[in-house]
Amino acid sequence: MFDQVGAEDDSDGLSVVDVPLVTGPSNFHTTAQRAASRRQRPAPPPVRPIVTALGDGHGDGHVDRGDMGSASAGTSERPVPPLVAGVDVGGTKTLAVVIDARGEDVAQVRLATDTSGPRGLIATISEALVEVAEGVGVTPDGLAAVGIGVPGLVDPRDGGLRHAVNLDIGDTTVSLHDPVRRLIGGPVTVGNDVNLAALGAAEHFGREGIVAYLSVGTGLAAGFVVDGTVFAGAHGVAGEIGHLPVDPYGAICECGQTGCLETVASGAAIARRWPGDAGSLLAAATAGDRDAMTIRDEVCGYLAWAVALIAQTVDPDVVVLGGGVAEAGQPLVEAVRAALTRRAAASPFVASLGLAERVTIGPPGAALGAVGAARAARDLLAIEGDHDAPRT
Ligand SMILES: [Zn+2]
Repeated sequence: MFDQVGAEDDSDGLSVVDVPLVTGPSNFHTTAQRAASRRQRPAPPPVRPIVTALGDGHGDGHVDRGDMGSASAGTSERPVPPLVAGVDVGGTKTLAVVIDARGEDVAQVRLATDTSGPRGLIATISEALVEVAEGVGVTPDGLAAVGIGVPGLVDPRDGGLRHAVNLDIGDTTVSLHDPVRRLIGGPVTVGNDVNLAALGAAEHFGREGIVAYLSVGTGLAAGFVVDGTVFAGAHGVAGEIGHLPVDPYGAICECGQTGCLETVASGAAIARRWPGDAGSLLAAATAGDRDAMTIRDEVCGYLAWAVALIAQTVDPDVVVLGGGVAEAGQPLVEAVRAALTRRAAASPFVASLGLAERVTIGPPGAALGAVGAARAARDLLAIEGDHDAPRT
């Protein structure tokens, strides 16, 4: 179940706790590249929209680089935007979006994930791409590039996926690059879904600084984006905070340790204690149910601890809550803020950090994971356009 590089995912699609290596030469780096980047940190890749008219380079699967340019440099007379898609594969549902050159979400589909193994996964991704392309009136080869976020270990070289337990994918690598590339005829990038959701959050909130994304689903993990670039650490495990033990008397975690953060602060933790989802728990707590209030305060107290851990380690401008539990929306944010405010009340130092003010949440239906995957695809095109790099 576990290997030396990361914890296994037991979560739904938006709550992965796995190694966040991401493929593609865009804003993701191999370990060696990351090591190099620590020595001399490059500027973030230019995000230059690719202006390609549909039917003018898409049908044969090629990006018409002659049409490249900034969105502000003459696209008005070419109203058809370049289209890229992002797919966020979860343990129960898969979301796909198409974004245009301005990053606008112009089509979205949601379908159930076929979790029967490799064939099911590829069928789900293919179906999502066909449907979402249809939403903008094209076939999949009308998409200039595709990004895919998956819960599991991703090989940065070929998009190979392993250890996505919710997708019934184990130690045998499943290649995602090749079948998707055959479908769209263009470049494909595959990455860890939490990291791509962090990228989507950075995109959504328009932050150039440090954006942290805290995915709270069945499991718990964080992702970081620094000036538009995913920061995954030297070995891709940055943000794997769900498997930090916080309760020495707690439950045995799937990872083998005792009392991991995700055993007390996750959708699974709530499900063990409350006969409903996070939304119903928070609603009952607000209505005065004493059990619900206790569970809410304990879970959100641990989430506040996670926010503090993130803030005091990487000092982000914002911590965006995401994942299935975050679908509870504003009541969850308020409960976490309240817990942070209680912590601050006891310490002028903690109060000076302004933690409660940094916590926020994406709007309902924002599909940050899929948007981030699409953003990665767009960055991949920009890199290829700049450097004429071979497609991966
Ligand atoms: Zn654990």
